[in-house]
Amino acid sequence: MILEKLRQGPTLSYEFFPPKNPAGWGTLYGTLAETTKLGPDFVSVTYGAGGSTRSKTVDIVGRIQGELGIEAMAHLTCVGHSRDEIRGILESLWNHGIRHVLALRGDPPRGDTSFKPHPDGFAHATELIRFVKENFNFTVGCAYYPEKHVESKTLEQDLGFLKMKQDCGADFAVSQLFFDNENFYRFREQAAALGVTIPLVAGIMPVLDLNQIPRFRDLSGCSIPNKLLGFLGEGPDVLQRGVEFATMQCQNLLQNGVSGLHLYCLNKHQSVVKITENLRGLGFFTPKT
Ligand SMILES: Cc1cc2nc3c(=O)[nH]c(=O)nc-3n(C[C@H](O)[C@H](O)[C@H](O)COP(=O)(O)OP(=O)(O)OC[C@H]3O[C@@H](n4cnc5c(N)ncnc54)[C@H](O)[C@@H]3O)c2cc1C
Repeated sequence: MILEKLRQGPTLSYEFFPPKNPAGWGTLYGTLAETTKLGPDFVSVTYGAGGSTRSKTVDIVGRIQGELGIEAMAHLTCVGHSRDEIRGILESLWNHGIRHVLALRGDPPRGDTSFKPHPDGFAHATELIRFVKENFNFTVGCAYYPEKHVESKTLEQDLGFLKMKQDCGADFAVSQLFFDNENFYRFREQAAALGVTIPLVAGIMPVLDLNQIPRFRDLSGCSIPNKLLGFLGEGPDVLQRGVEFATMQCQNLLQNGVSGLHLYCLNKHQSVVKITENLRGLGFFTPKT
């Protein structure tokens, strides 16, 4: 169970998304085969903003857990769902043997500028977390934003909402990607001062391509430190430099007591396999015998 592992921590986990087309499935299966060999503590599968991939999340988490024997967590968002639909999805996850859910509000569907809750649904992740905890026995994760959520006015407001998520029953939290560990340390300290005691897992995204950077910044609101740009610019192979930067970021976090690392894979295995091997070489996450 993830909470048990977090207590023994730090944990190592990977995130995947359900593919949109047949070629994507081949890539996902290849990635799963390569990454699950590394024995992560758990993996998670995202929930689409709408459309055909949503039902796949249940399928994939069920298969990862049932066939590969790796603890799998399903992401779930409030977007476009009534309470009854959410209840149905949770029942289906439970029946597939899934015991961990990352409860999220979700982003507005493409084309919408603001989030509009379903008339019989949930407006915030806090409401979804409370619903899951009141009606099911799942271990529940939630999201947090070391540099604040793009819609929040201040970081303080966001810190308060993380405390509310804990008060609604969230058992642990996973961060938005960030490239500057100082922002994470500052957030962790301020959260602790507010009474946040749940494990704060760090979400790390290795840069594979320079074109990704503006997209990361626009979607997540994360800052892009000059340190990262300078580092990536020092060698011809961006992927290799991105892996080295992420390894240094992870090493520093582990040396400073992070509860866990959650690597955003983008369904590609090379970078996360290399980061995991690098961290093992540094004496972290040594394989269990
Ligand atoms: C680790 C991680 C995984 C993710 N996985 C997915 C995924 O699988 N699918 C997907 O579509 N998206 C995913 N997202 C993106 C996420 O859905 C968006 O960031 C979304 O905009 C906010 O989700 P949330 O759960 O943090 O929402 P909330 O916590 O509801 O926050 C949304 C906004 O409302 C504010 N707020 C929060 N609670 C309250 C409250 N009670 N009252 C008033 N205001 C409040 C917050 O400050 C914030 O500005 C993920 C994000 C992270 C960090």
